[in-house]
Amino acid sequence: MKLVVIGGVAAGMSAASKFRRLNPDAKIVVYEKGSYLSYGACGLPYYVSGENDDYTKMIARTKEQFEAMGMEIHLQHEVVKVVPEKKQVMIKDRYSNKLFIDTYDKLMVSTGTIPLIPPFPGRDLANIHVLKTLEDGIVLKKIADQPSIKDVVIVGGGYIGIEVVEAMLRLGKRVRVVELADRILRTFDSELTEMAEQELVEHGVELNLGEKVEGFIGTDTVQAVQTDKGQYRADLVLLSIGVKPATKFLDGSGISLAENGAVIIDREMRTNVKDVYSAGDCAQVYHKVMEENAFIPLGTNANKCGRLAGANMAGQHQKYVGTLGSAAIKVCNLEMGRTGLSEFEAQNLAIDYSTVFVKSADHPGYYPDQTPIWIKLICEKRTRRILGAQAIGQKGAVLRIDIFAVAIHNGMSADELGMTDLVYAPPFAGVWDAVHIACNAVK
Ligand SMILES: Cc1cc2nc3c(=O)[nH]c(=O)nc-3n(C[C@H](O)[C@H](O)[C@H](O)COP(=O)(O)OP(=O)(O)OC[C@H]3O[C@@H](n4cnc5c(N)ncnc54)[C@H](O)[C@@H]3O)c2cc1C
Repeated sequence: MKLVVIGGVAAGMSAASKFRRLNPDAKIVVYEKGSYLSYGACGLPYYVSGENDDYTKMIARTKEQFEAMGMEIHLQHEVVKVVPEKKQVMIKDRYSNKLFIDTYDKLMVSTGTIPLIPPFPGRDLANIHVLKTLEDGIVLKKIADQPSIKDVVIVGGGYIGIEVVEAMLRLGKRVRVVELADRILRTFDSELTEMAEQELVEHGVELNLGEKVEGFIGTDTVQAVQTDKGQYRADLVLLSIGVKPATKFLDGSGISLAENGAVIIDREMRTNVKDVYSAGDCAQVYHKVMEENAFIPLGTNANKCGRLAGANMAGQHQKYVGTLGSAAIKVCNLEMGRTGLSEFEAQNLAIDYSTVFVKSADHPGYYPDQTPIWIKLICEKRTRRILGAQAIGQKGAVLRIDIFAVAIHNGMSADELGMTDLVYAPPFAGVWDAVHIACNAVK
């Protein structure tokens, strides 16, 4: 039995590790286009900011550690073609540029995404970067650390863009966000994003919302960003406008892809082609509330689905319980979390829903340092089942979202969660916790 893994970060190495544990004698070969394996890209903004001064801390396991588990690891090797009829893959050795063929019994496609980079005029100027890989993080940090870099423009106000905003503020830069949409962090609803925008503005960030980048100006190095509304000084630009699945090499393979290029898989991570599995950012993922596949490129799903793929390639039939799109972000002194459906998603699914947006607090006022927490709930009108939850506050907001995730996962109604026996002691929570208060406000 021979497993070939294409892409060796979260999904790929989770699959390879699980497969190895279940199948100690199998041959496992990993082809990874980059120079690093098995690292937590989620830690990159905190490396750029200097909060973590050692990028090797983000590496969960090294090449040598995987080799000690009996895996054959090829870094700087890019799979350029898959031929399922022959159970073959074609690989380009990026050191020598030579092509060669390998064969598999089971194939794992875990190639993640690539950042979207439109062909803006001036795109090739120095100091215009993306943040996707560990290599990107190392380069971005080196540039950002230079004292001559004073004005940073972040194009795109999604998770990565806003995390880098904070990193740049920590490094003492002047920061501007240019975002095409009328608000940032659009997986959250506007009640919360307005508060996040306010927080950024209070920390000196210039927010240019509803503004379209048209190109970059400079001689060798970027000096300004040109938008449809103005021109802004920039010594460094981060492009964070989204990602697309890294699946171009599957063209002609017969493996079914969605319109955006994500590999279509079932809940066991099987593609439409026998013995070819896929998981992580390059693939779709089953959504528990939507009851259909969605594209939600997050480490949460990549690790779990990769592990399931490994188990299933070893002969098991484990189904993913389904994502809720649970995610969190820190925006200066605020933390934000979300799970399940946003109001926008509920609208798109034509669900008859109701919402509440409730302000309460992390603990009672008679214990020091009480801070407010705002919670938004999206519930099905007829059943009062909780479909989605979002929270924002200075502390305690994000982990309350995990309570809602478990409730949504188990189909609980607002009434049931509103009476669930959560902990109470003044340093931590009120007798009616913020979670109860929001649930009991549902009409
Ligand atoms: C800055 C940043 C912050 C993030 N923060 C969070 C967070 O807080 N929470 C969260 O849940 N998620 C977060 N994520 C997302 C998370 O990192 C990804 O969901 C996760 O890494 C996906 O894992 P993956 O294995 O599917 O893909 P990737 O990590 O993208 O790995 C795919 C690998 O495949 C390789 N590859 C691609 N094509 C080929 C090919 N043809 N041949 C060989 N190799 C190939 C690539 O080089 C890459 O190393 C963040 C991501 C970034 C960039």
